[in-house]
Amino acid sequence: GLVRIMSDTIAAISTAIGEAGIGIVRMSGKESLDIANKLFKGKKIEKLTESYNRRLVYGHIIDPKNSEIIDEVLIAFMKEPYTYTRENMVEIYCHGGIIPVRRILDLVLEYGSRLAEPGEFTKRAFLNGRLDLAQSEAVIDLIRAKTDKSYKVSLDQLEGNLSKKIEEIRNILLEMIAHIEASIDFPEEDIEEITYEELEEKGRIVYEKIGKLLQTADRGKILRDGLNAVILGKPNVGKSSLLNAILRENRAIVTNIPGTTRDIIEEYVNIDGIPLKVIDTAGIRTTDDIVEKIGVDRAKEMVDKADLIIAVFDASNELTEEDYQIIDIVKNRKSIVLLNKTDLPNKYDENLLKELIPDKEIIVTSIISGIGIDRLENAIKKMFYSGNLLVESDILITNLRHKNQLIKAKKNIEEGINGITSNMPLDCIEVDIKNCWKNLGEISGDTVGEDILDKIFSEFCIGK
Ligand code: GDP
Ligand code: ZN
Repeated sequence: GLVRIMSDTIAAISTAIGEAGIGIVRMSGKESLDIANKLFKGKKIEKLTESYNRRLVYGHIIDPKNSEIIDEVLIAFMKEPYTYTRENMVEIYCHGGIIPVRRILDLVLEYGSRLAEPGEFTKRAFLNGRLDLAQSEAVIDLIRAKTDKSYKVSLDQLEGNLSKKIEEIRNILLEMIAHIEASIDFPEEDIEEITYEELEEKGRIVYEKIGKLLQTADRGKILRDGLNAVILGKPNVGKSSLLNAILRENRAIVTNIPGTTRDIIEEYVNIDGIPLKVIDTAGIRTTDDIVEKIGVDRAKEMVDKADLIIAVFDASNELTEEDYQIIDIVKNRKSIVLLNKTDLPNKYDENLLKELIPDKEIIVTSIISGIGIDRLENAIKKMFYSGNLLVESDILITNLRHKNQLIKAKKNIEEGINGITSNMPLDCIEVDIKNCWKNLGEISGDTVGEDILDKIFSEFCIGK
């Protein structure tokens, strides 16, 4: 329960583990200062006290058991409630690298704190009312943002802009509920009694506002998670070369032996602010080679999850059985077709491909000489972003959980409006309105169960 969670002092390494200039060990909770004082010896001060609130103090972390100096550090005490968690916090800035941060963490654990669960600092910030749930979720999005644009969207959400919008809608719903209850409780008096017309009008405003937010969800998802693009083609057509060309660096293996891209290679590229996740597959070649087969099976799995398939064909060879398999896959999916190796003598009938997949854009490329890559990038942009993803829209729904809540709320208000227009009794209508209010409240965390909280915060990294 909450009481147990909040009463102990938690600790974690808050910086990435590995070689670095500095590392930070962080504590939050009542005992933070006491624990720090058992381990810290200042150069100029005897004891860290509350009067050093928010000041960096220089000194050493010393193991009390044998007086061994563990590291030279700066330490900061931050007094509640003006901290990340709204509890007393201590941060110890030591040398980066695995050993100092580990040993300092071990000491603070030994002397009275316990290891924080993933996201527990942020969870405390939420439970102590400093962040609402949508803001807390923005923290992790911010950390994981892959482009400036997705970073900005997360920052807006952290600032509370999404929550404000949701509250705006919930306030309209509250008004409706208040009017309905007044009408139910005091039907004889004509004060504050709301007409069905007025209810319908308000209901439609809510419906429209929810719909508008939902419309941003597809763009929001792409911004946050990236667009899943799978490069498909039989061995040796130039898939890895394409990936490299897109990445403009040589990370995937390029070779002229068929089937060397054994496994799946995933990379993020930034196309005008949108993260494009490119996946190079081992092709869909049916093969007895077990190692390559792992790649092939996963390739098929990736195809089913893909937002976009980039199919590559080799113009210097005739279409083979494998090409026809790929054409079948491409036919009823969102895809762009590349006709590659056009620098070589053409052995193949372009019209055949046009006939087989008449509704697909075919881009002629010579990846080896960098021809056609820009046209591919433009085609991707045109296909998914229709020019408006980069327009500063005020709020984007980037989170699947939020989207699902909005879908539920939209259904609620739809039913509410149906009830109103068919003159249902007010108390029936009220049920739908209340559900709508409640479902929206789960976005900001105003109405949310502990199981959902646990799930959300468990996706965080440790130390945040
Ligand atoms: P993958 O098996 O589909 O990933 O193909 P690779 O990217 O490994 O390329 C196979 C071979 O084709 C390599 O030797 C590439 O240099 C070569 N290649 C790729 N694109 C082109 C191209 O546009 N023209 C020519 N002539 N060769 C290419
Ligand atoms: Zn390859």
